[in-house]
Amino acid sequence: MDKHSKIYVAGHRGLVGSAIVRHLQTKRYNNIVCKTSEELDLRNQIQVNQFFENEKPEYVFLAAAKVGGILANATYPAQFLYDNLMIQSNVIEAARQNDVKKLLFLGSTCIYPKMAPQPLKEEFLLTGELEPTNEPYALAKIAGIKLCNAYNKQYGTRFISVMPTNLYGPNDNFDLETSHVLPALMRKIHEAKINREDAVTVWGSGKPLREFLHVNDMADASVYLMENCIPEQIGDFVNIGTGQELTIHQLAETLCEVIGFKGEIIFDSSKPDGTPRKLTNVTKLHQLGWQYHIELKEGVQDTYNWYLDNVVINE
Ligand code: GDP
Repeated sequence: MDKHSKIYVAGHRGLVGSAIVRHLQTKRYNNIVCKTSEELDLRNQIQVNQFFENEKPEYVFLAAAKVGGILANATYPAQFLYDNLMIQSNVIEAARQNDVKKLLFLGSTCIYPKMAPQPLKEEFLLTGELEPTNEPYALAKIAGIKLCNAYNKQYGTRFISVMPTNLYGPNDNFDLETSHVLPALMRKIHEAKINREDAVTVWGSGKPLREFLHVNDMADASVYLMENCIPEQIGDFVNIGTGQELTIHQLAETLCEVIGFKGEIIFDSSKPDGTPRKLTNVTKLHQLGWQYHIELKEGVQDTYNWYLDNVVINE
């Protein structure tokens, strides 16, 4: 990839896509193409083909997807499966037809079987039943990985897949109904501080273990792999994570410290804990030459600043 290469970032308004665009700009890539979903509906094959024929991107970051938590997957299973299958199939096929030099397909570690041993190794894919609550999304993403591999095999393309752990950072979702734990607790703790409350409530027992990666690190890893690695080195796909975990209780304590909330942390055991542990094995990622840089506390501080400047200010 050189600085003038035409790079299409699909999903540039999302958490990961926006971070990839920022990172490419920082690295002085100067020919980035983006389209909103109003301008280009990636579920529509005719529109996608026309876009690729007109623009002829050389590199593609496929970060566009229908995403959401447990509730959204349960409410809209058809859309999670259909939209994601269509988006990825249309973009991958158009990339092949228009001789894209390299494509990076993004998924998530929810593709792994519910009962897979921890830490999660890439080879555990399709060794057991999926977690039912996110099965529609996971099935689509597994199909995407397999599609990239099949295209590489049959057509000699260079399509690579990456599966990030839990991400957080600027442009995250801070809606308490649909967000993941880190932004949810950030909002709750911030509001407890502002309202001078004595305590903040954390769902579940606080004992589950989770791994968190700042989205700027995710963008750095994505661009690094695009610049340096070919499918033969990566294999089916590669996990992107820190390999470090902490309990939800420890996460809440870190957030209290950064936000400056001195009250108590209370656990609401009527809420589910979910899976007890979710940690990626990052051996392959390290072998490919990339490691995370942003420590949790620093990343939380950065995200809190963004939250204050972009969410709180507009409320
Ligand atoms: P998961 O990683 O797919 O299980 O999804 P979440 O990020 O939603 O939840 C991770 C863990 O954080 C679970 O054990 C939740 O019970 C716990 N948790 C604690 N407080 C909250 C909260 O306010 N919102 C969310 N989403 N999870 C919370």
